[in-house]
Amino acid sequence: MVEGVAFGMSGLRLWALLVTVASVGGLVVYFGYGGWLYWRYYVRRRDRAVDWKIQPRRFQPADKHRWGIRVAAVNMLLGGLLSGSFAYYVVGGGYSALYLDAAEHGLAYTLLSVVLLFVAIEASAYYTHRLLHRKWLFKHFHRWHHRCVAPTPFNTVTMHPVEFLMLQVSAFLPIFVLPVHAYVFIGMLVYVLIFNIMDHSGIVMRHLLPWHSTSRFHDDHHVYFHCNFGQNLGWFDRFHGTLRRKDRRYGEKVFGGKGAPVGDERGATPEFVEY
Ligand SMILES: [Zn+2]
Ligand SMILES: [Zn+2]
Repeated sequence: MVEGVAFGMSGLRLWALLVTVASVGGLVVYFGYGGWLYWRYYVRRRDRAVDWKIQPRRFQPADKHRWGIRVAAVNMLLGGLLSGSFAYYVVGGGYSALYLDAAEHGLAYTLLSVVLLFVAIEASAYYTHRLLHRKWLFKHFHRWHHRCVAPTPFNTVTMHPVEFLMLQVSAFLPIFVLPVHAYVFIGMLVYVLIFNIMDHSGIVMRHLLPWHSTSRFHDDHHVYFHCNFGQNLGWFDRFHGTLRRKDRRYGEKVFGGKGAPVGDERGATPEFVEY
């Protein structure tokens, strides 16, 4: 194989190497950063939960905690398998809009592409997530992720493997049309994973990057179910009116993303929650 010759190894060995690197890298970020947050707050400051926890009175029972970690580990390995295989496909000359030489599109475009990719991945995640909240998909797949009403850092990818595959594909779709440097894409995947871990941490966090919603934005998604579908940003929820409203009722059975009216709303201005 051409790519095998280029790296001085057989195709199978190259594939195995890429899958191993992607899997180990993913597991190290996930359990390294997630584990550190868990130890720092859930272990060391458990008795002072009111000071740091978004839902200070809610902790997962031990069996659900262990189940969440097992499912997440399987999904991270699945993610490594997919990402490594995708890298092998690209190295072998498979089609994508990724490029390796920054001079090919210029430095200015490469910098702009960071923003474009971020918004494209966010859009992809928002619409996929909204789709997962349709009754059938929610009941059969997305319900797994919503078993964690008070999520911990380990629950970021505690989800049905079918859902994990859907989200993984949705994150990869933009790079088939948007030219992006390969390192920008890899960096973006790590960035999104780290912020996702913070957003599932259950810890009160106000991100230093001003475009990010606070960690309460996604934590509320787990409490109220069908609202706040965005991943890092509240933009798409604001645009579609799916941001949580103080004046509406939400719950597992209230589908549609806009809650249910509590009383007569005639003439009333919607009261959206600030995150
Ligand atoms: Zn959801
Ligand atoms: Zn979640």
